[in-house]
This record gives sequence, structure tokens and C-alpha cells, in this order.
Amino acid sequence: MSTAHLTINLHALAQNWRALDAKTKVETGAVVKADGYGLGAGPVSSALAEEGVRKFFVAVAEEGAAVREAVGPEPMVAVFSGHMEGDTDLLRDHDLTPLINSPQQYKRHMEALPDHSFGIQLDSGMNRLGLEAADWAALRSEALALNPVVVMSHLACADDPDHSMNQQQLQRFREMTDGVQVPRSLAATGGTMLGPEFHFEFCRPGIGLYGGMPFAGAKPVVTVDLPVVQVREVAVGETVGYGNTWTARRPSRIATVAAGYADGLHRAIGGGIDTFAGDQPCPVVGRISMDLITVDVTDLPYDPDRLRILNGHQTVDDLAEAAGTIGYEILTSMGSRYSRGYVE
Ligand SMILES: *Cc1c(COP(=O)(O)O)cnc(C)c1O
Repeated sequence: MSTAHLTINLHALAQNWRALDAKTKVETGAVVKADGYGLGAGPVSSALAEEGVRKFFVAVAEEGAAVREAVGPEPMVAVFSGHMEGDTDLLRDHDLTPLINSPQQYKRHMEALPDHSFGIQLDSGMNRLGLEAADWAALRSEALALNPVVVMSHLACADDPDHSMNQQQLQRFREMTDGVQVPRSLAATGGTMLGPEFHFEFCRPGIGLYGGMPFAGAKPVVTVDLPVVQVREVAVGETVGYGNTWTARRPSRIATVAAGYADGLHRAIGGGIDTFAGDQPCPVVGRISMDLITVDVTDLPYDPDRLRILNGHQTVDDLAEAAGTIGYEILTSMGSRYSRGYVE
């Protein structure tokens, strides 16, 4: 086997969903956009449906088909980007619920699929998706008479509990939805942690399910194993990798593993992270290249067959910090070259 291997622990995923669900008194859905945050929308969605999830969310209608297939006919599969031009067949054929973002989308939906379910997405200050207050005011009574399945909005700063934007958006959302009789939703993972006033009728976490911050109690869901291609002796003063950025200060053994930035192990991760042989850390040295990473295994008493870069000791957020990004991007960058295995 010469490709890196991703192991996705569906049991840990289910535990994370249950733990997030237990933080609230309300229903908990699941966001499975971007192919289930890179982990496989099909297996992830069916594991969550088995666990009892009844509301799924994707970014675009094309992603909804695989989720519908995985979860069966009952659960809601909702689309954040709403009803875009060309979406009508997908929405109808896979029974997807668009979250309407603009007066244009509302009109398109009512003309194309007048009897089909829909939800409403409101902009409460993030200025990314959703109806503006004035547009909502104009549509509100007509739209509500048609029984949307949800009225929702999204928080911009929920990963920072002390950010004043959270209360601002909460107040805005309340003003816009006061008296609304349909289910409301404001919280993703961050909002779920902010407390009951953010929960409304249901929460819809994503990243926390997959083991990422801001759910500090998350169980790791992904492990990544990198096959060792070769191991070599490197003498004092010799350098390793592009740009000669690492020089041996002692007689060293360097293992070259088969994965690189083309596999989402960003070049910016650089040094400062480890790979693991069992519990023993072996530091990454030199630059990460497209398909290869070099590792100092001098302190390991044997030549390993593979080294693990993501595990319970080193999480997606550790890699993200080293790369100057967020766990979301590490997960969703895990490319198609990995072989994948699922643990139930
Ligand atoms: C991505 C997304 C979520 C899930 O966010 P997490 O931070 O991953 O929990 C929820 N709602 C909307 C509108 C989103 O775009």
C-alpha cells in the first residue's frame, strides 16, 4: 500500500453528536456539507441517521443527493445556498429543502416548486447568506402562511463566547422572528456551546461532530497513517528536503513518508509537528513537499512501516494551528488520494 490511509471512526462521530445533543434540551441536526467535512457524506450521514439525526444540512443541492441516498426518505435534507438557478430538478428528485436566501430565490421556488418544502434563511448581521430585514418584512406574512419548515440564521463569531456580535445577532434574530410559529435555528457548533438562549427549536452543529474546535470535548474522529517509502542515514551537517531548511546536528535517521501538501498536509505546517510510531513522537523535519514528508526517526529503535500524523495526541486543530488555519480547512483539504476505512 503506497497511499496514505484515513480511518474515520463513526462510533466517535456518533458519540460527538450525542454529547452535543446532551448540551441542549432541543433537537440536534447535523451539517454534512463539503462531503461530510471531507470524511465522506454517505457513511457519515447514514451513521448519524442511525443515531437518530432527523435534520441534515448541505451547502449546495448537488451535495444533497448522496445524503438523501444515505439517510432514506424521512429526514429533512436542507440546502444552505437555497434554490439557485438549475436546482429545481435536484431539489424535486431528491426531496431537498432549499433555505431561501433572497426575494429572487423565493420567487423562483414558488414558480418552479409551489408545493415543495422550503425554509427561510435570514441575515442577522454576517452579511453572507440570507434575506435582509427589509426583504423579510415584505415577504414575511406570505411566506409564513406557506409553512416553511424552519426560519434560521447563522452566527459570525460564535467560536468566541465573549464576542459582542453573539448578543447582537441573537437580538437581531429575535426581532426578525418574534411571533413566528415555525421552528427556529441559530446555533452551529459554537452557538450550541453559548447556552440555551441560542438554541431555539434545534441546533445544527458541523465541526464538533468531526472532532474539531470549538467543541473542546470532542472525541477525535480521524486518524491518518502515512506509509514509509524509505529510511536513510544522514550525517552531521547534511541537509534534508527543498531549500535545505533542516540540517542534521547529530547522526540521524530520516524516514520519507508518502503524503504531502497535495493531500491536505499543507506546506505551511512546516516543522513543529510530529508523526507518531505508537505513542512515540517523531518530528517532521524539512519542508513538506507535494507528495512526501521527511521525519526524524533517530530516537526510534526500529524502522517503522508507517507513521501516524493525526491521532488522539495530535488533532486536526494542532495541525491547523501549525499551518495558521482552522481545523475545518485541514479536514476538508484531505484529498482524494487517501484510501479510506470506516470504523463502526
Ligand atoms: C457550516 C455551517 C454550519 C455548521 O457550522 P460548524 O461551525 O461547523 O458547526 C451551520 N450553519 C451554517 C449556515 C453553516 O454554513
